[in-house]
Amino acid sequence: MIKLQQLRKEYRSGSHTTHALEEINLTIAKGEIFGIIGHSGAGKSTLLRSINLLERPTEGKVIVDGVDLTSLSTKRLQEQRRRIGMIFQHFNLLSSATVEENIAFPLRLAGTSKSAVKARVRELLNLVGLGEQGRKYPAQLSGGQKQRVGIARALATNPDVLLCDEATSALDPQTTNSILALLLDINSKLNITIVLITHEMHVIRSICDRVAVIHAGQIVEQGPVAEVFLKP
Ligand code: ADP
Ligand code: ADP
Repeated sequence: MIKLQQLRKEYRSGSHTTHALEEINLTIAKGEIFGIIGHSGAGKSTLLRSINLLERPTEGKVIVDGVDLTSLSTKRLQEQRRRIGMIFQHFNLLSSATVEENIAFPLRLAGTSKSAVKARVRELLNLVGLGEQGRKYPAQLSGGQKQRVGIARALATNPDVLLCDEATSALDPQTTNSILALLLDINSKLNITIVLITHEMHVIRSICDRVAVIHAGQIVEQGPVAEVFLKP
């Protein structure tokens, strides 16, 4: 369902070129939880952001559900991006908006009617276990609750894919586990494909089906988690 073919990414600044990704080939199946692990600077973030074209690859194809995103017009790309949700290490919530307004944001952008937005926000709050927190502001929430809002917002337009950018790296171990459990729950309930990047082995081991190890812009190993990292 996600196919990255011969992906390359260069960042140019003046005369300096960084080869962030080289010859990335990756196929991620529908409904799978796929992890990408590597050290800081390895290219994880660039790779993840290539899947929704937040970073445009220098070369190669990004095929999601049979459509090569690199070939689309801006308008068609915007439509396709609604099929891909994303969550972030630092949550990226609007601090001046309530929880409900944050979750409603992508629905309003998509032109959803007021009554449909209301019903959908209620459903999403329940899904992420924030039933009674809708009128609060982000500053009134714990880190774990903020990430639950981020997840609800990412799922608002009912995407097929959820991209997770170090989604638990700012959280304590216990909260990390509860967010990982929520991701697992959402994956099985909604059959959504999850692609996550992390530098933490524990995250990969606890929820991923398959993993790719990235080093200096290249995938050096990939396969089922139990094969790539022999269990102790
Ligand atoms: P993290 O690894 O925690 O995701 P980084 O420090 O790698 O964070 O990157 C943070 C942001 O800065 C990203 O949007 C990334 O694209 C950008 N960035 C990273 N390295 C550079 C660089 N050398 N020059 C300019 N921007 C960079
Ligand atoms: P990771 O997420 O694994 O920390 P990144 O994808 O952020 O790795 O970065 C990969 C490489 O690309 C690093 O050398 C980083 O400094 C560089 N890089 C990332 N974003 C930018 C950018 N916007 N401009 C220039 N260099 C960047």
